[in-house]
Amino acid sequence: MTDATTLTAAPVLILLGPPGAGKGTQARKLEQAHGLVQLSTGDLLRAAVAEGTEAGKRAKAVMEAGELVSDEIVIAILRDRLASPDCRKGVILDGFPRTTVQAEALDRLLADSGQRINAAISLDVEDAAMVERISGRFTCATCGEGYHDSFKPTARAGTCDACGGTEMKRRADDKAETVAQRLEAYHAQTAPLIAYYDKAGTLSRVDAMGAIDKIASNLSDVVSRAIA
Ligand code: AMP
Repeated sequence: MTDATTLTAAPVLILLGPPGAGKGTQARKLEQAHGLVQLSTGDLLRAAVAEGTEAGKRAKAVMEAGELVSDEIVIAILRDRLASPDCRKGVILDGFPRTTVQAEALDRLLADSGQRINAAISLDVEDAAMVERISGRFTCATCGEGYHDSFKPTARAGTCDACGGTEMKRRADDKAETVAQRLEAYHAQTAPLIAYYDKAGTLSRVDAMGAIDKIASNLSDVVSRAIA
């Protein structure tokens, strides 16, 4: 079996939105509700940095500065991950594409396998709220469940509600000064993709400023229609 056949007929969804919009949180919920696989290029890159791979070494300083890793590295990492057997269930892309070059590469990759994007969903948020959202967030080191100091604390301090893990971690690039750079990169390089997918007829928009569960429910409705 070739890479090209692994994705055939599997739904492909894209979550667009600035850092802090809730892409990771919502992708995890969609994964459970719709039996899809979340593919986060941020997670893949952090794993590459932790493993000390060649790509990870090249990406580390760029990520710490809040800038975008080169298209070449990110596209190669995503292409490899998409070829894994579990992706045959369908995927939710979280944090990819982030540039027009990446969007075009994804279109080509999918076209090669007779596949298409079911929906590119923009999580619409106000910039002003993003710094507060990002600076309070942390995840369980064991299972990856996401939390927030104010908006979604753990029920018992220091203990993960989902798995009982007691080690929590915060991202190095969630510092206020790096967040500002990440938002700038989003507006300069990623926001134009909203027009790109609108033109392609695949764009949907979801208001992502309210309560997490309400947003999840609206998003799930959009996804159900897109993969029907
Ligand atoms: P995220 O976890 O999606 O917020 O990504 C964290 C960091 O990883 C970003 O600030 C970028 O430095 C890098 N990154 C993740 N996805 C991409 C991508 N598609 N293109 C370029 N850089 C990326």
